[in-house]
Amino acid sequence: MLRSINPFDQSVVGEFQPMDASTVQKKLDTAGKAYQSWKRTTFAERTTLMQKAAALLRANKEEYARTITLEMGKVIGEARAEIEKSAGACEFFANNAEKFLADQIIATDARRSLVSHHPTGAILAVMPWNFPFWQVIRFAAPALMAGNVGLLKHASTVSKCSLLLEQVFREAGFPEGVFQSLLIDNKVIESVIESDIVQGVALTGSEFAGSQVAAIAGKHIKRTVLELGGSDPFIVLADADLEKTAKIATQSRMQNAGQSCISAKRFIVVEQVKEEFMSRFAENIKALRQGDPFDGNISMGPVARVDLAETLEKQLNASVKLGARIVTGGQRQQANVQPILLDQVKPGIPAFDEETFGPLAAVITARTEEEAVKLANASRYGLGASIWTKDIERGERLAREVESGSVFINALMKSDQRLPFGGTKKSGYGRELSEAGIKEFVNVKTISIA
Ligand code: NDP
Repeated sequence: MLRSINPFDQSVVGEFQPMDASTVQKKLDTAGKAYQSWKRTTFAERTTLMQKAAALLRANKEEYARTITLEMGKVIGEARAEIEKSAGACEFFANNAEKFLADQIIATDARRSLVSHHPTGAILAVMPWNFPFWQVIRFAAPALMAGNVGLLKHASTVSKCSLLLEQVFREAGFPEGVFQSLLIDNKVIESVIESDIVQGVALTGSEFAGSQVAAIAGKHIKRTVLELGGSDPFIVLADADLEKTAKIATQSRMQNAGQSCISAKRFIVVEQVKEEFMSRFAENIKALRQGDPFDGNISMGPVARVDLAETLEKQLNASVKLGARIVTGGQRQQANVQPILLDQVKPGIPAFDEETFGPLAAVITARTEEEAVKLANASRYGLGASIWTKDIERGERLAREVESGSVFINALMKSDQRLPFGGTKKSGYGRELSEAGIKEFVNVKTISIA
């Protein structure tokens, strides 16, 4: 049974019977049929429908936001913002897909050479619960605009969101089978991936899930894009604006109860400003109010599941055993965790070496700027990073040295549909969003005329 549990009070929100093998096969057949006509639609036709999807997201924002908050616990204001952001991405790809996928004429010895872009089939999205609408739209808007059809295997705890997403595309007028939600157990994923209609898999989630799914996709020669974990460094140099830096540090680490792949997780601070940064950061974190995510005065809800809170607690305890010091927080009641600030974190300590997927900020001291970059790169992950300095040239120079898919200077690291999004090292490969994202699952075809 797929269960949605309200993480704030552990009440049952919904139970869903996983689809049996014959239902899944019917969905695959429907996807195959839908693809044959969808791939021939014009960009103008797709744009009209995608704009309708954006309008529906906005029109039903309250219902969708409430479902997100019920199923995974983020504060209601953040859930509303997630729906707005999702609508924006639909509009962006509605307006730009044709331009991104236009033919490119290349000068060669031939009379005419060009590159054209074609859809490939159904793309399977294996998605997580942390941004249950945004993660799916980030995949679906470019995939459908490119002429592919979408299949969604959402996290088993957000089945209501999964069904609502299918409803958005259906009500927007997308033909039957262009976007379908599969309520399935992750153990049967191979039966979907091996189907001939599936030509690619986009997965956002843990390193473990990524490697399992990519191994299956590799076996069946299907392309993958993996957006996995992160342990993003947040580098504070001596000339940073400390008031702003501490404010954004808190936002980056604690929004969504710390459950974002690109939230800053390791705060690497040069020693000249360590004490002042630490006192401002602690003040900001202590001011957060954790509680019922439907209460408008609350800044942070629970984490999404009790087992995730337990994992975080284990990482915290192991870090303290190895020398880290708790400045504030750490008390836990089921999935409700008081935001944690840890000092004296170093390589070799779980809060440095592992991804911490919850409200835990780890502060690391660096003697110099060079050491700060070295520490930033001393991670198995490489998703995002931010650098805080008034010297923009220095910031840009250091940004080029940081091993990650993105670096933001003096700003909150966030995804933006106009910019490529993705990682290096164990954070995965491939890109989502922007022109780079829409080209991941198309056939880049060379045509050459002698
Ligand atoms: P998972 O990686 O297990 O879940 C993400 C998605 O992958 C879900 O749809 C899940 O399905 C699916 N999945 C998991 N294992 C398999 C498998 N063997 N085959 C096919 N699909 C699979 O994340 P968790 O929810 O367990 O979170 C664990 C950790 O993962 C977090 O603490 C965090 O470190 C990381 N994570 C990173 C995210 C990111 O944004 N990059 C998002 C979420 C988690 P099902 O729910 O049915 O298991």
